[in-house]
Amino acid sequence: MNNFTAMYDTGLGPTEVNRYLANKLNINGMSQSAFKNREKENVRVYKKSCTNSLETSLEEEKSKSPVMEDGGSGRKYDSKSGVGTLIGNQTGKVVGRGIRSSDCRVCTFWEARNVEPYDHKCTRNWFGSVKGMEPDVGARLIEDLETKNSQVSTVIMEDDTTTIARIRRTIQHSILRN
Ligand SMILES: [Zn+2]
Repeated sequence: MNNFTAMYDTGLGPTEVNRYLANKLNINGMSQSAFKNREKENVRVYKKSCTNSLETSLEEEKSKSPVMEDGGSGRKYDSKSGVGTLIGNQTGKVVGRGIRSSDCRVCTFWEARNVEPYDHKCTRNWFGSVKGMEPDVGARLIEDLETKNSQVSTVIMEDDTTTIARIRRTIQHSILRN
């Protein structure tokens, strides 16, 4: 466990960590596959704690009604992915986040070789236009919150007519934009 955490914090790869452990601490390192397994275990734990904290923040936000949601989103101009974040206006805490990505390293690698990619954890979840990413993330995040018993009355966001139009098409009740 500790070996792997060091890797994340410092940006070292398995080889460097093993060398460090052997030279400095006189400890045997882990094999590459052991590292990979630890990595999988840890990612699961990280994801879970991240989801838990989103849910806690949402509950806190809901307890301070009226609920208002702050919308923040971002997309690098040359990027193949778009990220959206929902921040509760009352608590200032992140209550939802989503990502659309048209890119996957595994798919790209094999597609370039005209080979069907093997079964993998694909990061590609967007097949539409780059412009469509942000509106989709925004609308889905709010839709998601609404399924968790919280009504979004106002969205504070940059002047993005496409996104607010998409949100209003998706959500059944009226939503103000500040
Ligand atoms: Zn893929």
